[in-house]
Amino acid sequence: MDKRRPPRPALVVHGGAWAIPDTEWKAHRDGVRQAIEVGWAILRDNGSALDAVQATIAHLEDDPTFDAGLGSVLNREGRIEMDAALMDGRDLDVGAVACVNRVKNPIRLAREGLKSEHVLLVGDGAHRFAWERGLEPVDPSSLVVERERLRLAAHQEAPRSVDPREAFGHPPLDRPNGTVGAVAIDRGGNIAAGGSTGGTPAKRAGRVGDTPIPGAGLWADNRAGAAACTGWGEGILRVGLARTAVSHLRDAAAQDSAWLAIREMDSRIQGRAGVIVLSRDGSIGYAFNTPRMAVGYMDEEMAAPQVNGDPR
Ligand code: ASP
Repeated sequence: MDKRRPPRPALVVHGGAWAIPDTEWKAHRDGVRQAIEVGWAILRDNGSALDAVQATIAHLEDDPTFDAGLGSVLNREGRIEMDAALMDGRDLDVGAVACVNRVKNPIRLAREGLKSEHVLLVGDGAHRFAWERGLEPVDPSSLVVERERLRLAAHQEAPRSVDPREAFGHPPLDRPNGTVGAVAIDRGGNIAAGGSTGGTPAKRAGRVGDTPIPGAGLWADNRAGAAACTGWGEGILRVGLARTAVSHLRDAAAQDSAWLAIREMDSRIQGRAGVIVLSRDGSIGYAFNTPRMAVGYMDEEMAAPQVNGDPR
């Protein structure tokens, strides 16, 4: 007989792991806190983990503080190309999109993908799928913010070949704002994970990072738990960071699993990243080896969300 407690809803949200400067720290923390409130309202009222993760991420996509949706970074050709994914822990189903720039909320399109026969759609095909599913086309320029125009202009004026391992460690102008992600468990014990990003600044056109790739940027399995990652996408892809973190849940608590995964990536390929982890019994963890990570969480035993940097 399973003597575990009945599932308790919980939500963990991140807004990127990098050298977030003091000037942007408050906006990142406020954004994460507001997004938790949006997602938590759904879980508290018996909504599903998938709906909570989707709504949380859509809220962060609409907040120009973050490198997702409005405020996404520009690639070196001056265009936005966004990636997003949602994973359903009931049946390991995934909906993912990459290199899209004509939808306001890529996470909404990823949700449509969950109901389709495919896992990952990219570029024009993903856009045509969006119109078929009734999403409104937007002008890509409506997602571009001044901060990112300046960032690209500075990069173009003085192109530097930035070691991507370093890119998440220091705060100059050409470093990214935070990618966003969330993991949740609902009262039914169903678990979901999701993420959305504009990718890394001045990336090549067509570059896809870890965010829409199951196993790398996200993983959710009702039998174990969920993880979502942020940071140097190429490194996260190479080690399969999200699935690594979830696999540790077999023998370790969520917090230890998060640390073990980050430590493995660090020692094997010196990657820089952060990961949020949730176990099927609702235990919460996160770890990062970047200077800062915008991250917060909420569960039924808490009176208010706890965001990294809050007094405990
Ligand atoms: N992991 C994302 C990517 O490489 C970027 C980030 O998390 O900030 O596309």
